[in-house]
Amino acid sequence: MTPSPPTATQPSPLEPDSRSLALLRDPGSDSAKGRPPLCVKSQHDFVVVGGGLAGVCAAVQASRAGLQVALIQDRPVLGGNASSEVRLWALGATSHLGNNNRWAREGGVIDEIMTENLWRNREGNPVIFDTVLLEKVTAEPNITLLLNTQVLECEKSAGDRISKVRGFCSQNSTCYVLSAPLFCDASGDGILGFTAGAPFRIGQEARTEFAEGMAPEKENRDLLGDSIFFYSKEVGHPVRFVPPAFALKDLSKIRNRQTRPFHARTIGSQLWWIEYGGHLDTVHEAETIKWELWRIVYGVWNHIKNSGEYPDAANLTLEWIGTVPGKRESRRFEGDYMMIQQDIVEQRTHQDAVAFGGWAIDHHPTEGVYSEQAPCVQWHAKGVYQIPYRALYSRSIRNLFLAGRCISASHIAFGSTRVMVTCAHTAQAVGEAAALCLAMKLDPAGIASGETIRALQTRLQRKGQYIPDVPRRDDADLARTATITASSEYILANLPIDHLWQRLENSVAMLIPVAAGTVPKITFYVQADAATSLQIELRASLRLGNYTPDKTLGQKTIALAAGEQEVAFDFTVKLDHSQYLFFCLMANSAVSVRTSESRVTGLLSVTNKFNPAVATTSTQEPPANSGIDRFEFWCPERRPGGRNLALRCEPALKVFSPKQVANGWSRPTTQTNAWVAAPTDALPTLSLTWAQPQSIHEVCIAFDPDWDHPLETVLMGHPEDVVPFCVRHFRLRNGDDAVLHEVTDNHQTLAVIHLPQPVTTQQLTLEIVATHGTPAAIFEVMCFS
Ligand SMILES: Cc1cc2nc3c(=O)[nH]c(=O)nc-3n(C[C@H](O)[C@H](O)[C@H](O)COP(=O)(O)OP(=O)(O)OC[C@H]3O[C@@H](n4cnc5c(N)ncnc54)[C@H](O)[C@@H]3O)c2cc1C
Repeated sequence: MTPSPPTATQPSPLEPDSRSLALLRDPGSDSAKGRPPLCVKSQHDFVVVGGGLAGVCAAVQASRAGLQVALIQDRPVLGGNASSEVRLWALGATSHLGNNNRWAREGGVIDEIMTENLWRNREGNPVIFDTVLLEKVTAEPNITLLLNTQVLECEKSAGDRISKVRGFCSQNSTCYVLSAPLFCDASGDGILGFTAGAPFRIGQEARTEFAEGMAPEKENRDLLGDSIFFYSKEVGHPVRFVPPAFALKDLSKIRNRQTRPFHARTIGSQLWWIEYGGHLDTVHEAETIKWELWRIVYGVWNHIKNSGEYPDAANLTLEWIGTVPGKRESRRFEGDYMMIQQDIVEQRTHQDAVAFGGWAIDHHPTEGVYSEQAPCVQWHAKGVYQIPYRALYSRSIRNLFLAGRCISASHIAFGSTRVMVTCAHTAQAVGEAAALCLAMKLDPAGIASGETIRALQTRLQRKGQYIPDVPRRDDADLARTATITASSEYILANLPIDHLWQRLENSVAMLIPVAAGTVPKITFYVQADAATSLQIELRASLRLGNYTPDKTLGQKTIALAAGEQEVAFDFTVKLDHSQYLFFCLMANSAVSVRTSESRVTGLLSVTNKFNPAVATTSTQEPPANSGIDRFEFWCPERRPGGRNLALRCEPALKVFSPKQVANGWSRPTTQTNAWVAAPTDALPTLSLTWAQPQSIHEVCIAFDPDWDHPLETVLMGHPEDVVPFCVRHFRLRNGDDAVLHEVTDNHQTLAVIHLPQPVTTQQLTLEIVATHGTPAAIFEVMCFS
């Protein structure tokens, strides 16, 4: 693709460079022959190198903040490891729904991308995901996108400042020289930081350096390896496969087959464990690694087709095989702060938190498939952790931001921060920070504390970025001064008995938000096959805001007769703080509990079991002295499963107040933080009323996109194309009842409504005409003049 044509909003168009590289220039005069110039120079506000999910999100965020951005990507499509070239599913803190991070999808641009992908591509076709990314970037008038353009080097105006980057596009034989005051390295390997001389790490730090329990005694150069996947296709008749001569013949060399046996129909990301090269230099020996991976995957396919062990592979053909290896690890650059294991496990807080992570610390044996060890070991924290801004810029190159897997993290911490949605989320902070730096004429380090970092946090939160433990304190938001009322409010008196019985093969709990004070009595409906006893436990989280039930507030053993009966939690417990409590029915396979069809924002059932994709036992059992916590996993089921338990609540819980839409939180934390309308309300309305008329130019409304549901981008598939909790049709009215804005087919999380003219009114009313299934719910309303 050629560069985006200059537009009226691009004051710094790409121009021929009079100082073009002599070696690349055709000796004949190009312009005289009417050919395009071979070297083009341009000026931008912010240049992003690398178009993986991190680079894409940094660029889009910066563009929306008003910067003229160049995004340079050396490959034909965007997405990096998430693109159709590699086909990895993008994930983040939700961790395939396999840990205790509830409502942990990241928010902001990456959520917009993933929600759009769900809407268009719930089957997870990687080619469609490419189009979602390409469309998102080309929709931004402030972004100049250079595809197939590889950045080769940079020029510095001083020892500690980058002034230009040079790239070359092999498709149009053009060299590009891009100048800017601020740069971002989102290239994975860190080509920009490396050529600029920014300090970086490669390999594993010794335990003594950061006192990380998981670190080796001695530092070493071991890395995580690369992977290549394949897709196969059923064609309806037998297909012969003749392997290329270079295919691996002796599959016994693939040692970890015992833990990961081959299956004829396992494809794509499910083959993540076909890994090689961590013991090599993953930058400079990348081609050697790729050839070995090709040998392995063609050898594996030959084995599946021709060994006779997989009769169900007879009609399969090889549809696609990766040509670009997915690279896990190479350079990690040093910022003003380096994240370490303790930041993750202890969930340390930082004054400059701008993003969060929640994937496990996930490390692999260096030898990959040739190792005797399990192909990966994942150690989870008890909840999500903050990512500090100081890890997102180089400590020595003053105008260089870092985004993606090359941010400032130790090898151990990188094991968690490296997943793509976490990379994208931190990159959004970089994009917004670049805009703030430019506005304030400061370098990245100049905004890392005090009022400027508060300003960055608020700017991010307005755009949907969630930062755990940091509420939005936004003086510009007029909603904070409004009186907020609603046509109705959901009262949790009961969840009706209208769905199937669920056998208590595993312990099951309802997660219920309870206000400070007395815990209500909650009654469940059970059925025993024969007389037995059932243990019930009321649990909380030791750390407020976590969803790991590691503190027992009360427990009882209840004698059950054969047949149906009620089980009541009537513990006399007083809470100092509002929080989610776990009402646990402990495992007893002779007992079933009744479930409900009702789905309501902020209510969930969870089960004490494990997801084999990210854990091996339902209680995490870490090695001694590893610094990792032992705790139980209590995880929800994915829809269409994952029903709430039918229950009765006395007194009824009032935890869905309209006032919550301006309390600074945009998802459940210790409370639901949502206004939810009564299910019987035919036209739910939420009104913001001011004592004096207000001039309002922009209104932002945050709906419920089910923050708990991981939106794996490819292969996996999802039960719906829009989550049932989301509002579909809404209207915004002023105090005179005139409609200011109406959307009939919303499927997105955040509606940002720029009114054509500022409106002066004493009241704004949001009318919810329809949702995608559940009672109407709103997390946030923001109003700006
Ligand atoms: C096999 C495997 C399994 C994994 N499993 C998961 C998973 O399940 N879920 C998950 O979310 N993450 C997973 N990861 C981790 C994740 O894919 C990476 O950590 C992540 O892609 C890093 O994001 P990034 O944007 O920094 O890099 P990338 O995604 O690699 O993007 C960097 C981009 O920069 C471009 N680039 C590089 N050099 C230049 C240059 N000189 N000029 C211009 N452009 C350049 C590259 O082409 C690339 O598109 C896995 C990784 C691997 C390899």
